[in-house]
This record gives sequence, structure tokens and C-alpha cells, in this order.
Amino acid sequence: MTTVDVAVIGAGIHGAGMAQAAAAAGHSVLLLEQTAIAAGTSSRSSKLIHGGLRYLETGQLHLVRESLRERTLLLQLAPELVQLRRFYVPIYRATRRRPWQIALGLALYGVLAGFSRGAAFGALPRRRWGELDGLSTEDLQRVFHYQDAQTDDRALTRAVVASAQSLGAQLLCPARCLGATLVAHAVQLRYRHADGRDMECRARVLVNAAGPWADELARHITPAIAVPPIERVQGSHLLLPLRLHAGCYYLESPRDGRAIFALPWHGQTLLGTTETRHRGDPGRCAPGAAEVAYLLGVLKHYFPAWRGLSGADVSGSFAGLRVLPRGSGHAFHRSRETLLLTDREHAPRVLSIYGGKLTTWRAVAQRAMARITASLPARRARAHTDRLRLHPVAEHG
Ligand SMILES: Cc1cc2nc3c(=O)[nH]c(=O)nc-3n(C[C@H](O)[C@H](O)[C@H](O)COP(=O)(O)OP(=O)(O)OC[C@H]3O[C@@H](n4cnc5c(N)ncnc54)[C@H](O)[C@@H]3O)c2cc1C
Repeated sequence: MTTVDVAVIGAGIHGAGMAQAAAAAGHSVLLLEQTAIAAGTSSRSSKLIHGGLRYLETGQLHLVRESLRERTLLLQLAPELVQLRRFYVPIYRATRRRPWQIALGLALYGVLAGFSRGAAFGALPRRRWGELDGLSTEDLQRVFHYQDAQTDDRALTRAVVASAQSLGAQLLCPARCLGATLVAHAVQLRYRHADGRDMECRARVLVNAAGPWADELARHITPAIAVPPIERVQGSHLLLPLRLHAGCYYLESPRDGRAIFALPWHGQTLLGTTETRHRGDPGRCAPGAAEVAYLLGVLKHYFPAWRGLSGADVSGSFAGLRVLPRGSGHAFHRSRETLLLTDREHAPRVLSIYGGKLTTWRAVAQRAMARITASLPARRARAHTDRLRLHPVAEHG
């Protein structure tokens, strides 16, 4: 039976990041993906590499600071994949967030970004409001602008997997992990190839990076390991055949105050996102009619020229699942920190990754490596992930 240092389940951004970090540290790595690279949440996000301005409202300063640090790094490491964009935040008489709150938030955002590239912000002079893609100016009080970065989440994940492979990691795709058994200092895992063959392999550490399937995978590990109380919250996006020329918009839903992004995306507009509780198979999630109506309602509220839009104008849509700690409050206000859970404190055999952000994949992988190092043999490092350049990979490359 093959033995590897680290077996990673799931080639979303976290699995890709873990495979890269472990391979860079000199370990042998097997990465298993059941469908395709980035088939899960990592191709269904808002595609932002951002600090998350709105997380300031819930006091998640550590997360925002770390995200902004990673944004700076990714702008250097992956310039073809991660680019700065200008964002506009219009404030109307009826907007819940007042101009002073936004100004304070943006100043704090700049401070947390360490006044790095992309930390600039300000207010757009009234005489330039006409440049904003037909944004309604009725009762408009201020328009703030700041910068954040946009990526292609699937392409970024593919680039990180390619980086891991260039360091020696082996990818098996499609191959589905069926379960695992913990033995003294290792894990024996079973997986199924696309052709139906069942195989076994042994790993010193199993990394469960199965995203919305992580709790299900954890339940197939014996003896049983702890599974945290989580819930899956669906976020939907719409693609509309409209062009945004000025940049990205950070809009406040007039219905419930949630932040909605309208983003230029391959010559169209990407609009998202919603938050609705998802039950059942994580592989089955799609935008519902109420979500389509909600998102279109926000766009039409702010852009009068598009008030005639209907569901028939939607050129594409997709939904992804956030993994959040279970709670009674609104999902919008819940922590977006990544939860790393091991089967035991010292020399863990399993590490599971729950939740998190696309932006912080590299930092999360570094933290996770620190948690599992005691379980791994000493190896000579091949590279450092904060210096590894990421290159776009051809779709069938
Ligand atoms: C609507 C929405 C918008 C978001 N927008 C942003 C954003 O703009 N910026 C940001 O930073 N973050 C954003 N996020 C968060 C971010 O997208 C996720 O945190 C991240 O993509 C999760 O990646 P992951 O690798 O953990 O999971 P996934 O990408 O879901 O990967 C898990 C993988 O595991 C595979 N798998 C599962 N079970 C098995 C098995 N048994 N065997 C083999 N393979 C298996 C799946 O096929 C899948 O490919 C958003 C999230 C959502 C839902």
C-alpha cells in the first residue's frame, strides 16, 4: 500500500493551498478530488480577493487585517490572476450606513491594509457622479470609492494546484474519498476512481478540505472524530448582459441592509449575493426564484435605466455554499474565520478545514501546516509559499 506524508481531500482553494504548502515543506502529497478542480464553492464565490469591508461592522479585525495582507501578497504573486479594481459605495438619504460610518470604515480599512498598494480611498466629487453607469442620483448624498481585488476563483485554484504539482504533489481526479480509519500514527483511507475501482492508501496526516462536504467526510472516519455544529448557507449570483464601465459597486439592499456587489465580469455584470439556509445534498444548490427577484430588485433600485429587467434577462447564474458556525442570528453577521479542527491536540492524524475565505487560503494553509508538523517526518523544504509565483493554467492544461 502506498504511504504518503499528507493526503488532502478536496481540490477547492483550501485543498489546493494545503497541497502546495505541504509539498513546499518537502512532504509527499496526494490530493484527491471527486469531481474537478474548483468544482465546489471555489468556482461559485463573488471572486473577490478582499479584506471584506463589511466584516469591520462585526468587529472581525483580525480577519480583515490578514485578508488585506494576503491581498497585497497575491497582487505580487499572481498579477495575471488577481487585479485591483475600483469600488464605489453610494450613500443615499435612506442608506442605513451613514457617510461618517463609511468614511471611518474606509480609513480603518486603509490602516489595516498598512497603507499598501490598494489602500487609497476617498469621495467622488458630485460633478463626476454622471460617470457612474447611470447610478440613480435622487437623494444621493455621497459616493465613496476604494480599492479591492478581483480574481477568477476557478483559475486561481487551478494555478495553486499546478504550483503544488510542480513541487511534487500528486493529483487524482476524479477520485472520491469514501472514508478513513485512524491507526496508531497514521490514517488508512479508501477512495474510488472514476472507473469504479476502490483503492487504499496510508497517510501520516489526512487533511479534510472537502468544503461543504467536510462534515459528511468527517462522519466517515473511524473511530469517530468531533464534528462541529455547522450550517450551510447558500449564496447566489446572477450574470446579466449589462456593462459596468466605471468599476464595481457596493450596494446596500434597501430591503434588509445587506451588502450586494455589482461587478464587471467578462463583459457582463455579476450580481450577488444572497444568504439562504441550505439543507440536503451540498452537490445540489441552485439559485431560487426568490433569490433572483431579490438580487434584480437591488440592481433596479439603484440603476433606473435597468428597471425593465426581468428574470428572462438573466444570462447565467450559480450558487455556492458557505460553511458557517451554527447560530441563531442572521448568517450575514456570523464569523467568516476558518475553523481548523484536529482529532487530537498532539500529533494529530486528521485536520479538517471548515468555512473560510478564498482570499486567505495561503495563510490558512500555513496555520494548518503548523498544526500538523509534529505528525510529519522532518523534510527539507523545497520552497516558501509567500514567494511562489502563481501562473494561469490553460483550462485543459
Ligand atoms: C456565495 C459565496 C461567495 C463568496 N465570495 C467570496 C469572495 O468574494 N472572496 C472570498 O475571499 N471568499 C468568498 N467566499 C468564500 C470562499 O469561496 C470559500 O471559503 C472557499 O471557496 C471554500 O473553499 P474550500 O476549498 O474549503 O471548499 P470547496 O471549494 O467547496 O472545495 C471542496 C472540494 O472538495 C471536494 N470533495 C468533497 N468531498 C470529497 C470526497 N469525499 N472526495 C474527494 N473530493 C471531495 C469537492 O468536490 C470540492 O471540489 C464566498 C463563498 C460563497 C458561498
